[in-house]
Amino acid sequence: MSGKERDFIKEAFDTNWVVPLGPNVNGFEEDLKQFIGAQNEVVALSAGTAAVHLALIACGVNPGDEVIVQSFTFCASSHPITYLGAKPVFVDSEMDTWNMDPDLLEVAIKDRIEKTGKKPKAIVPVYLYGMPAKINEIIAIAEKYDIPVIEDAAEGFGSKYNGQMCGTFGKYGVLSFNGNKMITTSGGGALITSSAEDKKEIMFYATQARESYPYYQHEKIGYNYRMSNICAGIGRGQMTVAEAHIDHHKHVQALYEELLKDVQGIKLHCQPETGEYDSNYWLCTVTLDPTLKVNGQENVYKAVVQGAVGGAAGVTHDTKDLHTDCEPNPNVEAMRIFLDAKGIESRPLWKPMHKQPVYANAVAYTNGVSESLFKVGLCLPSGPCVTDDDVRYIIDCIKEAIL
Ligand SMILES: *Cc1c(COP(=O)(O)O)cnc(C)c1O
Repeated sequence: MSGKERDFIKEAFDTNWVVPLGPNVNGFEEDLKQFIGAQNEVVALSAGTAAVHLALIACGVNPGDEVIVQSFTFCASSHPITYLGAKPVFVDSEMDTWNMDPDLLEVAIKDRIEKTGKKPKAIVPVYLYGMPAKINEIIAIAEKYDIPVIEDAAEGFGSKYNGQMCGTFGKYGVLSFNGNKMITTSGGGALITSSAEDKKEIMFYATQARESYPYYQHEKIGYNYRMSNICAGIGRGQMTVAEAHIDHHKHVQALYEELLKDVQGIKLHCQPETGEYDSNYWLCTVTLDPTLKVNGQENVYKAVVQGAVGGAAGVTHDTKDLHTDCEPNPNVEAMRIFLDAKGIESRPLWKPMHKQPVYANAVAYTNGVSESLFKVGLCLPSGPCVTDDDVRYIIDCIKEAIL
């Protein structure tokens, strides 16, 4: 944490604004508005997950409704759908950006209307690892069927498509300021709305849905989802380095690209070179050719892993099984273990939601893309603390692991 964050937090204490509203919250929202450079409004919230939840409520999602969501994502894109008693309908990705396949999206919409007689209530595309989706095509299809789009830009803070910030194309845009995201407020998120009226509605639900009476009067169920003034102070400090963070992530990606150029069997995931895409490269990812031989690959999946991915996130369930029906290839797991022994934390790609046991009964429109990527992919260290020397060391270790 730099001096700026400390200054804003100290001010919050000095002025007695240690609550979930106040000058830092307003200031942070103003900073975010400036940053996204659009006619949108922003509501600061306690988490990105809360932002997804409130956007769904604002789209009128009720028990039994269906919501279309990208399958290749972190669980926070889809879990809030189930919080509401609604049903996620998963749509697979295309190979260029790894995000929602617009063609498959239309297939899914048509089929849902035919099978249920009802339109899905919302569409949730994701900017996976910061990569812009084919958002123009997605928006065009959404408009054709008049279905609101909630962009999950939790990983895509500062990414642009055609010069426009991700999160500002749809009716709502989700941002996350969790500890591992592009900028952090320790924990937090925001919802980008397209009008001041929508912002008011989101604020209403984020602060326990209070009606304007001199006493607590409730006609709707609300949530305690507003960002605290302390967290917003961290956010205001982080906004002063947001551009620098994004530049650094792009720099790390460029260095990976240069150093991996001649490494056979390992491919860095890069944005399409058609000019529209400007990824923040929040996470740099590679795919391993299934024929690549990696040191130790015959010995993987023989012992249960202690702790889960993102172990810092808390308690995980113990498991007795060594395998699931969809897991990274042995050479990928061997690379992860090899790098781990060298002090380098890498991770598998996010496992598609339609392959998660908790969503075994959910409807899914698949084309094999996300499942095949999950089996061959690995996330490499990409954070603000990764130096050029770190990247060189990581690539040296990857080369050493290859037989
Ligand atoms: C992190 C993340 C979220 C949720 O954000 P939190 O602030 O952690 O609740 C939502 N969607 C995606 C794709 C994410 O990566």
